[in-house]
Amino acid sequence: MKSWCGKYLAVNILYSKAGVAQQIMVSHDRDAILVDAGDGVLRDLQSCDFKWDQLKGLVFTHGHFDHIGGLYSLLGFLRMIGREQMLKIFVPKGCDEVKCMVNCFLQKYSTTLPFHIKVTDLEPGQSADLAAMNIEAYAAVHFGSIKGAGITNHLPALCYRITFKGEIIAISGDTGSSAPLYDLVKEADLAIIEATFRNSNDANEEYLKKVHLSEDIAKDIGKLAKEYILVHKGRR
Ligand SMILES: [Zn+2]
Repeated sequence: MKSWCGKYLAVNILYSKAGVAQQIMVSHDRDAILVDAGDGVLRDLQSCDFKWDQLKGLVFTHGHFDHIGGLYSLLGFLRMIGREQMLKIFVPKGCDEVKCMVNCFLQKYSTTLPFHIKVTDLEPGQSADLAAMNIEAYAAVHFGSIKGAGITNHLPALCYRITFKGEIIAISGDTGSSAPLYDLVKEADLAIIEATFRNSNDANEEYLKKVHLSEDIAKDIGKLAKEYILVHKGRR
C-alpha cells in the first residue's frame, strides 16, 4: 500500500518508529530505491510483494541502528535470490556503520556474491543519480543520545531531496532544528519529516536543536512543502 502517490513518484513508508526502525521506499513506474533500511526491512518488502529487480540502490541518512539494522539481511537475501545487477549504496561521508556492515558481509561472501556493491560517500551540496532520480544531499544536524548520558557524539547525517521529472520529495532523516531544513522542503511536492518528540515541551531546547524534531516543529517545516507526512514518531 502506497503512503503517497504523485504524478510520477510514489512513496511507501514501510515502517517508521523512533528507536525501532525506519525504511522508506521511493519508486516510479520502473525502479525503486530505499531510504534507510532498519530492522525488518526484508520482511516489510516481502509482505508488499516487492519486485526485487526494481531495487536499484539504497540511500542512508545516518548510521544509527534504527536506520541501518536491516541491511545485512537484505544483502543476504539478494545473494540468495541470485541478484546480478549492481547494488548502489550512498552514505553520508564518515558514516562508518554502513561501511563496516558491508565490509563484514563482503569478507564472508565476496567469492560467492553474484552482484557488486558500490558504496559512495555524499556530502551536503553533492548529488547522485540513482534509478533515474536525482538525489541531492542537504545537511542534517544529528547527535546521538543515551539515557543517563545525555547528548553524545555528532554523527555524519544527511537529508535528501529526490527529484524525478520535476517532482520533488524531501526526506529529513533524523535531524535537529538547527539544520537548514527550510531549503530542503521549499516547494517540494512532498516532505517527509521526522517528529520524534510529541511536543516541543517534551524536550529541552538543546535536544530539539541537535538531536530530533518535535511534531509541532516538524509540521511548521512540512507546511512549506505542498504536502507533508510526519514519521519517526517516538514510542508512545
Ligand atoms: Zn538517529
